[in-house]
Amino acid sequence: VFADGCVDPLVYQDAPHYASQNASFTMLTRNSEIETVLKTVRSIERHFNQWYQYPYIFLNHEPFDPEFVELVTATTGAKVQFGVLSELEWEFPPGLREQLIFKESIEEQGDRGILYGNLESYHKMCRFYAGAFYKHPLVAQYEWYWRIEPDVEFFCDLTYDPFYEMSRRGKKYGFTVFIEELYWTVPNLFRFTRSFIRRKGVKVGNLWPLVAKSYNSDFKNDDLLMKFINFDSDVERELTKERKIKDLLDTVGNTKTSALDREALKLLIERASRKAPIFEDKFDDEEFNLCHFWSNFEIARVDLFSTGLYADYFAYLEESGGFWAERWGDAPVHTLGLAMMLNVDDVHYFRDIGYQHSTVVHCPINKAGEQLPYVETLKHQKLRHQSGGTLQTFFDDITKVQEKESEFGVG
Ligand code: GDP
Ligand code: MN
Repeated sequence: VFADGCVDPLVYQDAPHYASQNASFTMLTRNSEIETVLKTVRSIERHFNQWYQYPYIFLNHEPFDPEFVELVTATTGAKVQFGVLSELEWEFPPGLREQLIFKESIEEQGDRGILYGNLESYHKMCRFYAGAFYKHPLVAQYEWYWRIEPDVEFFCDLTYDPFYEMSRRGKKYGFTVFIEELYWTVPNLFRFTRSFIRRKGVKVGNLWPLVAKSYNSDFKNDDLLMKFINFDSDVERELTKERKIKDLLDTVGNTKTSALDREALKLLIERASRKAPIFEDKFDDEEFNLCHFWSNFEIARVDLFSTGLYADYFAYLEESGGFWAERWGDAPVHTLGLAMMLNVDDVHYFRDIGYQHSTVVHCPINKAGEQLPYVETLKHQKLRHQSGGTLQTFFDDITKVQEKESEFGVG
């Protein structure tokens, strides 16, 4: 972690070496999501941006309603900018859209039960985040972006400036959650990635083993994972394996799965349980372990994507058709691109940022032997309540907190 415990943001910013960074919060969203957008902004304001006042960028494929603009602007004192995407940034090429193969492929992904596979808008969203967001003029005017989404909750105060800390330590990409992709959304992504690497003669950085595993040697990437995540080693690993097998069995049980997919899934189950090699012909000794940085949270340099290898990589993937013929997520695409370009030291794991989006939560663990302060507070409140004596002080405290909150415009 960059800072142990809380710092006083005012003292921190007063330090002679501190410099506010050229950075923004960036969110792609729709008018209809206003409630959950406000939830996210309130949370980030309360836990971080009330002290740092970084600007926000909101992007949409259609214009934002005046009401959306008004409500969002009223939720923060920081500068807010709203942008509409151009057709090039959002749409697949018109020629392609009209082709039957495009429509059929997307419908068929729905029939095969691929998560969001039948939503054309979801394919567009993934393609946008994979290869277009960093070119948008509003985003490109900044050196750094922090990606946020509707319906995000931050649990802990972030009292230091993550942009500044990343900048001064030469970090390029930061994440909170590292998770496995659903295999059937990206069956050919790794093949195209490898072919890009081969054709371009890319010399991959030492982050590469994080995503690529050799099926001849078990879990080649373990050492690297351990660098980021302190797995409770064998126990955790066994649990992960068990869960993986269960997930696959559930998918096989899904009546929507075709006979062909069921066969392939059986192979995958076999691999998960016995680590048996498959796909030898395709990947010569390497396959995607499906691990990726969960990209709905990212703090990163914009030029990581906009300059150099990544832009070429995206162009190559775009050409392959995988953003519509399969349902490639922007997260595995970012991760594979970064894994080939970066070294371990370029990446920062924000283990101290408590983060929740949809059902996935990252909750920081206190140091061994430490009590969670929050739990302790609740316990004290309960004791106070039971004793009755100081109940008034307790309510007084709550009132004070609520007054402060409305002063800052947070709920
Ligand atoms: P999930 O987190 O993978 O379930 O994906 P979401 O549905 O949350 O989409 C990711 C982000 O893209 C969110 O910020 C959405 O608001 C945004 N998004 C998704 N689809 C669209 C769309 O059709 N139009 C716009 N403007 N934003 C979208
Ligand atoms: Mn989301």
